[in-house]
Amino acid sequence: VCLVDVMPRLVERGGLGPEAAIVQAARISYGAGTKTVRTDEGLLRYLFRNAHMTPFEMVVLKWRVRAPLFTARQWMRHRAGSYNEVSARYSVIGSDYYIPEPDDVCGQSAANRQGSGEPLNPGIAKMFHNDAADLYWRGDNTYRTYIEAGVAREMARIVLPEGRYTSFYWTVNLRNLFGFLELRMDSHAQDNIRGYARAIYDILRDYCPLAVRAFDDYVLDAVKLSALEVKALRGGEAPPEMSARERDEWQKKREKLGL
Ligand SMILES: Cc1cc2nc3c(=O)[nH]c(=O)nc-3n(C[C@H](O)[C@H](O)[C@H](O)COP(=O)(O)OP(=O)(O)OC[C@H]3O[C@@H](n4cnc5c(N)ncnc54)[C@H](O)[C@@H]3O)c2cc1C
Repeated sequence: VCLVDVMPRLVERGGLGPEAAIVQAARISYGAGTKTVRTDEGLLRYLFRNAHMTPFEMVVLKWRVRAPLFTARQWMRHRAGSYNEVSARYSVIGSDYYIPEPDDVCGQSAANRQGSGEPLNPGIAKMFHNDAADLYWRGDNTYRTYIEAGVAREMARIVLPEGRYTSFYWTVNLRNLFGFLELRMDSHAQDNIRGYARAIYDILRDYCPLAVRAFDDYVLDAVKLSALEVKALRGGEAPPEMSARERDEWQKKREKLGL
């Protein structure tokens, strides 16, 4: 994933980077006079903390992404952005496939129906890796054979697996980018897309350091409590109406809180 472009370009920056557009937009409400009262960072943090997120929409970032189809499919569920993807109807596509290394092949999670769990028996992981590579090779070979035989590209592509790489541009504002990062840096997200989210986060830190710090403090490293969790905190133990799943989640939060 790489950053292609960032808006704003024309905003008077006063020592800030693209984040100048956030405080510029906010000060239409708060007035320039408050600048002496609140620092730029103080204002930005106040906005973030109180969910006044519209000013964060003033920063827009364009990314170029190369990712396996199954990851792109998860990515494009984030509707609040613009995408343009390479067309496998128009172009003959390259032989790029994501083949997980045996160490990355884990067992089904016992706790999370969607996720991976413990590492697998190395023999099965290695066999999966080899069989996937073999299947990809056969799919790729079939695709190219029939392209050469004159089958339309839009039809020939259907033999290719979900591990095939695709490329797209993604333009997204900072508010929705934080929404993406919150969901896709989370431990519930698949490892592959978490890697991309982490790479985006690291790049973003260079361009929007104040906003990323606010995101760290108010989202990433914060702990949100439900009413039952507040009850548990006050009463010293999980209330009986907490479900087993809620108890697990509460336990994780307790650990994060150091309780
Ligand atoms: C761990 C994980 C597991 C998931 N599992 C599944 C799954 O099994 N099946 C599945 O289908 N999806 C699944 N998803 C996708 C998920 O349900 C969301 O579609 C995806 O994360 C995009 O989130 P979003 O809607 O907040 O983002 P965006 O689509 O970018 O929307 C951003 C925000 O805009 C607003 N918005 C956008 N569109 C609308 C709308 N039509 N109406 C009202 N408000 C809107 C909402 O406030 C939304 O939060 C999963 C996601 C994650 C992270």
